[in-house]
Amino acid sequence: MATPRLEIDLSKIHHNTRWMVEFLDSKKISTTGVTKVTLGDPKIAQTMLRAGVGNIGDSRIENIQKMREAGITATFLLLRNPLKNQISQVVKYADISFNTELSTIVKLSDAAREQKKTHKILLMIELGDLREGILPENIDEIVRQTLQLPNIKLIGIGTNLGCLGGVKPDRKHMDQLIEISKSLELKFGVKFEIVSGGNSASLEWLFNCKKVGTINNIRLGESILLGRDTMSREPIEGLYTDPITLIAEVIESNIKPSVPTGEICQNVFGIKPTFQDNGMVHHAILGIGRQDVSVSGLKVLTHDLDIFGENSDLIVVVSKDNGLKIGQEVRFSLNYEALLVAMTSPFVKKVFQ
Ligand SMILES: *Cc1c(COP(=O)(O)O)cnc(C)c1O
Repeated sequence: MATPRLEIDLSKIHHNTRWMVEFLDSKKISTTGVTKVTLGDPKIAQTMLRAGVGNIGDSRIENIQKMREAGITATFLLLRNPLKNQISQVVKYADISFNTELSTIVKLSDAAREQKKTHKILLMIELGDLREGILPENIDEIVRQTLQLPNIKLIGIGTNLGCLGGVKPDRKHMDQLIEISKSLELKFGVKFEIVSGGNSASLEWLFNCKKVGTINNIRLGESILLGRDTMSREPIEGLYTDPITLIAEVIESNIKPSVPTGEICQNVFGIKPTFQDNGMVHHAILGIGRQDVSVSGLKVLTHDLDIFGENSDLIVVVSKDNGLKIGQEVRFSLNYEALLVAMTSPFVKKVFQ
């Protein structure tokens, strides 16, 4: 089979999704399946939907368009503020978009009127992670103005933690979100369909939480696809951590010294590498590089090897006792960043199982 390739086990993704959906159902929380790291892969979206997610979220409108055109019928959420030259596509392809900027919401209103549609929006609240979000003190004014716009329906609020600042969602953040939702509903006489309590990072709070208040939605990507708690990267018990693995192939195999010959300056990525002398070693080259994957996020699953170095197009691996043959395949697990790059590389084939 061709390499490099990602092997994607849809039955494991189904299992992980189902497990999450059942757990969250028991708390009366709906699950949004997040597909952005897979470039909006229709097969993965379909698998998440079959396993019970309520809707699909992605941060790129191109991905949502692709899933729709592949025949996926679902409610689609755009998880990022719309770009100004994509406003009409957002209204056309996304049922709901996440927003924080009034000037963008005004543009969405204009586009929705042109398309004779009502576009639903969810307002994101900044609770400390310093990613997107309206500051709590500004939320009333934005809600007030949003409610006056034609062809726009404000259906809820949400937050995002544990991402940029790595801030761990805790009781205080969640209580704040619950309070804001209640006070907005009271003040403006609205009823929110969605109060979205975050991404995979919010799971730990939920595992230990008895009262979820008004929070009725969570958006999950990494925890479903890689089976890990994103605050600690520890495996979540009951989930598979290997629904997606990466396979590369040996294109050169030799016995070479473990230290280069000559003066050592900067390598291709501007770093001056250091070496430890282990004498002669089994030295092999894999036909995959940084253009295909983030190498620091790989762990070898099939052999006893160390990654020695890499450039854009190849990875050098060494082993003291294990010579690799040309054409032999080496399998890796991936972290989120490695998965992101591998999914995005046009050179990496995606093989579904
Ligand atoms: C990516 C993203 C998610 C999903 O995050 P995971 O950590 O993969 O669960 C949820 N919400 C928003 C706004 C996102 O951008």
